[in-house]
Amino acid sequence: MSEAILFEKLALIGIGLIGSSIAHAARKTGAVRSIVAATRSEETAATVRRLGFTDHCDTDIAGAVRGADLVIVCVPVASCGEVARTIGPQLAPGAIVTDVGSVKQAVINDMSPHLPKGVHFVPGHPVAGTEHSGPEAGFAELFEGRYCILTPLPGGDPAATERLAAFWRRLGSMVEVMDAMRHDHTLAITSHLPHLIAYTIVGTADDLAGHLNSEVLKFAAGGFRDFTRIAASDPTMWRDVFLTNREAVLEVLGRFTEDLLLLQRAIRWGEGDKLFDLFARTREIRRALIHLKQA
Ligand code: NAP
Repeated sequence: MSEAILFEKLALIGIGLIGSSIAHAARKTGAVRSIVAATRSEETAATVRRLGFTDHCDTDIAGAVRGADLVIVCVPVASCGEVARTIGPQLAPGAIVTDVGSVKQAVINDMSPHLPKGVHFVPGHPVAGTEHSGPEAGFAELFEGRYCILTPLPGGDPAATERLAAFWRRLGSMVEVMDAMRHDHTLAITSHLPHLIAYTIVGTADDLAGHLNSEVLKFAAGGFRDFTRIAASDPTMWRDVFLTNREAVLEVLGRFTEDLLLLQRAIRWGEGDKLFDLFARTREIRRALIHLKQA
């Protein structure tokens, strides 16, 4: 027996990797009756129409949300405020508005002032992704077995949060609810810092490329290859993440830099025990992740 429709009209604003994956998954699971998407460029809209995973797609961002009971903003974090300003006057009373941004407090600050009373704003972040971008990169299974974090505003309607949680569960996610500050601090260490490190290592290797070039590529399997995958992530998205989660990222970066200096010192002074103890501890963390099916 097929499951009930959760929303009549889903509007997706921005239809790259995350927006298109939501569309595929919502269709596959029968979570919504119709899907309308809007994006910035006609080129992307034409690609989406060719791929055919929405009922309608064009560049009319305000028009897309008219009559929608669920609106998901899937644009880079620094563009969320501008999108909210455009869609605000067109939103239907009672509609649920959410986003998928990798930073939450900045999105709340930027979007809230533009959303009218009677609309339920429930910010969100599916902790799932790949290094690919654009509507051709999306797939229905992206969210399966992954966490989706919702950061409802104080005083918001719990029923709206629960309706949105049910939608993400239908797409295969496990839903966690927490406040935006906690989200931003947690993700700074689990996601933002690792990306910064990957960008740094690949940049440093490229600076050395004068004499390393062919060797770097030839021996890429030795750990470097994994970093190049992460460092291939979308430049606009990640620029916005670092600029909008500045305090939390700078805080964990300070801690990380201290720990790195301790390792540098241990290597210089031949303190093998220190190195071994750390590497044994981190190996356990990897094993715990595999156990939790998040590896
Ligand atoms: P993406 O593949 O690059 O797609 C971005 C989409 O947003 C495109 O449709 C783009 O339109 C549109 N867009 C950009 N600026 C816009 C604006 N000012 N107004 C309207 N539309 C605009 O990006 P993505 O990976 O799906 O990321 C989208 C969001 O998801 C980001 O906030 C990111 O933090 C979050 N997120 C990403 C991942 C990940 O791994 N990628 C994971 C979790 C959450 P055009 O193509 O027409 O220019």
